[in-house]
Amino acid sequence: MNKKYFKWLFFLIIFFSFEFTCAENSFNYEGNKINRVGFIRIPYSYVLGIAFTDLINVKSEFKNTQKQLHFEISGIRKNNFDEKCFLPFITEMKNLDIVGSVECVQNSKNENEIFLNINFADKNLFLRWYKVPNNNVLRVEIFTEESLEKLKYDVSNNLGNQKFKKLLIDPGHGGNLPGACYFDVKEKNLNLAIAQDLQELLELNGYGAIMTRSSDVDVSLPARVELAQKVMADCFISIHCNASGELNPKVKGLEVYYAEVPKISQLNSFQGGYQFLGMSQSLDVLNMIDKHTQNKVERSKSLADKVRVSILHTLKENGFNTLDRGIKNSPLSVLINNSVPAILIECGYMSCKEELDNLVNRVYQQKIAEGIAEAL
Ligand SMILES: [Zn+2]
Repeated sequence: MNKKYFKWLFFLIIFFSFEFTCAENSFNYEGNKINRVGFIRIPYSYVLGIAFTDLINVKSEFKNTQKQLHFEISGIRKNNFDEKCFLPFITEMKNLDIVGSVECVQNSKNENEIFLNINFADKNLFLRWYKVPNNNVLRVEIFTEESLEKLKYDVSNNLGNQKFKKLLIDPGHGGNLPGACYFDVKEKNLNLAIAQDLQELLELNGYGAIMTRSSDVDVSLPARVELAQKVMADCFISIHCNASGELNPKVKGLEVYYAEVPKISQLNSFQGGYQFLGMSQSLDVLNMIDKHTQNKVERSKSLADKVRVSILHTLKENGFNTLDRGIKNSPLSVLINNSVPAILIECGYMSCKEELDNLVNRVYQQKIAEGIAEAL
């Protein structure tokens, strides 16, 4: 065999062995860790969210006698499962009398699988849990009897279906968190400029328009979501600018996000389920929860599309050119945890120099704000 073929053979061997290793290690056991644990109160439920850095596979079972939600999570090793990040939330859940204890143990038969047991307190609760698709976030939603009563009242009075009157505008990032940064332009400043233009326009048009931040400060994501409840906003609009890492003239355009939530009947296909605890199984409760969540999803999705069409139209009318990247479903925390219809607008790509030049242009910023305002 001559030298040239030998070289090719060498490359092929390397290539195939690499491919096989990748296929076998679609679960990255070694590197997979808990990225974040969060516990927040949203209007009708408490949410425990566990985000992993890598792929996981979840099997779940509710053990009635122990009042225990049992998860078998494969794709992570016990020594990577940092229990410390749970501690503050466990204390909080205990104080609320929701949870008795949370424990994590190694599956003795499989070193790449752990068992996570959430033992619930002696309280009447409704639980629903699922893995957020493609996102490696495990979500457990806990409804108390009181929160179900409130939900029943709101759903039967058709609250959450009224026309948008009071909006919460959310300029992304701020303070020590600048967001994307290209040629000394910081995303947080672009977001704030567009948001301020939008606030001004909405107020002129007779809407209530409140901001999650009006200056260069950092506001946590849960605080942004909680503000929507505090000020009783009926819609949440988050404003961001996009980036694709390296400078790239080809990747540009407008994207608008909303978040889908699975229906009760779909929980199984999202590696999840539901359980009534201390309450009898009620079809009314299941229907009510679906009605509320799907209504929010539908309204968010429809608003996302209207905003997309309107911004593109306004920009085009004023001689600006961008690409339509469509509306996208993504479980971003400010969207999925929000109590009201919520969208997130990625106004354009800062990593595309041509688009960045537009994004810093005051007229362009105002036209984006106009596009949003006209969609409402
Ligand atoms: Zn951003």
